[in-house]
Amino acid sequence: MWPLGRPRHGARDSYEACISRTREMGAQKRRTRLIAAADAVEAASEAFRSGAAAGSLHDLRPEEFQVPGIGHDEKVVTWLYENGMVKGGPGRAIYDELMSAPEHDRCPLCGHGTVSQLDHFMPKSSYPALCVDPLNLVPACSDCNKVKGDAKATRAEELPLHPYFDDIDTETWLAARVIHEDGSVRLEFFVSPPDSWDQVLADRARHHFKLFNLRRTYANQANRYIGEIRGRLRSLLARGGADAVRAHLLDGAASSLGERPNSWMGVTDRTLAADPAFCQGSFGD
Ligand SMILES: [Zn+2]
Repeated sequence: MWPLGRPRHGARDSYEACISRTREMGAQKRRTRLIAAADAVEAASEAFRSGAAAGSLHDLRPEEFQVPGIGHDEKVVTWLYENGMVKGGPGRAIYDELMSAPEHDRCPLCGHGTVSQLDHFMPKSSYPALCVDPLNLVPACSDCNKVKGDAKATRAEELPLHPYFDDIDTETWLAARVIHEDGSVRLEFFVSPPDSWDQVLADRARHHFKLFNLRRTYANQANRYIGEIRGRLRSLLARGGADAVRAHLLDGAASSLGERPNSWMGVTDRTLAADPAFCQGSFGD
C-alpha cells in the first residue's frame, strides 16, 4: 500500500550470489544444474516484472516458473532461499539491503507494523524461479506475511498492491467517518478511490485493505489516539471554543498529510476537524 523504490540488484545477481556457496552434490550434480538455470531465472524475473507492471500477475502460470533441472523439488528451493540468502554469505547482503529499505522499518503492506521478514510476493512453493528475485521479495511485518501466506490471486482484483510497482500514495484514498455511539466517539476507516483510478485498481485497493485487516488496525490506532489527545482538546475547548479545537486538528492534519497523504493520523485529524459535534466536545470529559 506504501511504495518502495525498486531494489538495485537484479534477479541474476541475486541468484548467482545465492548459489555461489553451493557444493557439487554427488551424482545429482545439483550445483551444475543450478548454475545452468541462471538464464531461466533471469527470464522468469522479466516475465514477473512485465506482469507486475501490467497488473496481470494472477495470469502467471506456475509451470513456467520452475527452476530447470530442479523440477518440483520444493526442498531445494527452500534450501536455496534459506541457505543462500537468509543464513549468510553473499546473498545475505542483498537480503539485508531489501530489509532495510522501508523508512523507520515501517511495513509497506500495512503502513503500520515493523518489518521483520521478506514476503515472497509470488509464493516460492509455486514460483520457485522467483525465490531469490529481489523484485519478488517485499519487506513485511510478521502479521502481513502470515495473512498473505501462499494465497494465489485468480483475478486481477484479488492482487495485493505491490510496493515496488503500485504507487497509489500520490493521491488521497484513505478516508474515515466519525461514529457517535452510546456517549462515546470512534472512527471507521475505508478506501475512498479517487476519480483517476479505474475499477480494477479501486477493487485491488479495497481487497488489500480487507486482506491485511487495515480497517481494524487503523481504527484501533485512531481510537487510542483520540483517548490520548482528549485532555489537550478539553483545554482548547475551554479556552477558545470549538474553533480552537478545529484549528488544532487541522494543523495536525496538515502536518501528517503533508508528510504522507494517507497517514491514518492525518486522516483522523482531518475527519475529526470536519465533525461539528466532536469539535464542540463530544470527545468526552
Ligand atoms: Zn504489515
